[in-house]
Amino acid sequence: MRFDIVTIFPGFFESVFAQGIVRRAQTEGLVEIRLHDLRDFTHDRHRTVDDRPFGGGEGMVLKPEPLAEALEAIGVRPRAERESSESASQQVSESADPRDAAGTRVILLSAQGRVFTQAVARELAAQERVVLVCGRYEGVDERINELYCDMELSIGDYVLSGGEPAAVVVVDATMRLIPGVLGNEASGEFESFGPADAEIDVDVEGVPRSQHGAGGLLDYPHYTRPAEFGGLETPQVLMNGDHAQIRRWRREQQLKKTLENRPDLLERAALSAEDRRMLEALQEQGPGTRE
Ligand code: SAM
Repeated sequence: MRFDIVTIFPGFFESVFAQGIVRRAQTEGLVEIRLHDLRDFTHDRHRTVDDRPFGGGEGMVLKPEPLAEALEAIGVRPRAERESSESASQQVSESADPRDAAGTRVILLSAQGRVFTQAVARELAAQERVVLVCGRYEGVDERINELYCDMELSIGDYVLSGGEPAAVVVVDATMRLIPGVLGNEASGEFESFGPADAEIDVDVEGVPRSQHGAGGLLDYPHYTRPAEFGGLETPQVLMNGDHAQIRRWRREQQLKKTLENRPDLLERAALSAEDRRMLEALQEQGPGTRE
């Protein structure tokens, strides 16, 4: 899978993408990340990428011409053209323009976008190529969004100074869902927002697993050695080797964490009758003492 990032700060990404899983994914050829300096697509002495906003107001706006030129240079045509060639290519497949291979998503990073979630990450991980446009200043001339972008994505309800940190978030969360990227395939399944337990099939040689799929909820808490730390004991249930019991406890903890920190997720989750019983018991216990 390939990511193209259009930015005025390509240097921003160098150290982030040279570490850990994202570095390994690139070395192993599973992911390719190409950085494109927006200033390379300007034609004046000062390499100008911004201008004052029409209508007045604070700040500057990223000009449309260098962005359009950058996108065209990496093979992204206006969306309308892509859509019409896609529908034509469905009729006569040979006539499709090879520059726009099916499976390219062009994304404008923006606080005004649809919120980036694990579900969107899954959607992107199925693409061949994701193009990320990083805004700066007051943002990007809206015509770039209208002409070239398939979607606007926000990483949360706050305003960043630029799209670069958001691009890092999108690349990281997406690439770890590409088959082969995580060393242990199962670790991509058993985590917050992951698939429902019934969709996961990793029992090892008949031994029931001790993990529980999140089914859209948050992950359960994890513990490692030492067994006692800071006066707190690791829950005894995790020490007894009874996988079925551990799995049940972990489900209860997923429900508890979600109830405490993200009750909104419970409304959308598919809960079993046992989940509901556990949830009722947790609700009766009342909230914890922390904020
Ligand atoms: N005027 C914009 C607004 O109020 O929505 C904020 C512009 S912000 C200072 C500059 C750039 O940072 C944006 O163009 C966008 O690329 C990026 N950005 C800011 N917040 C973001 C978020 N929550 N998610 C993704 N990108 C964001």
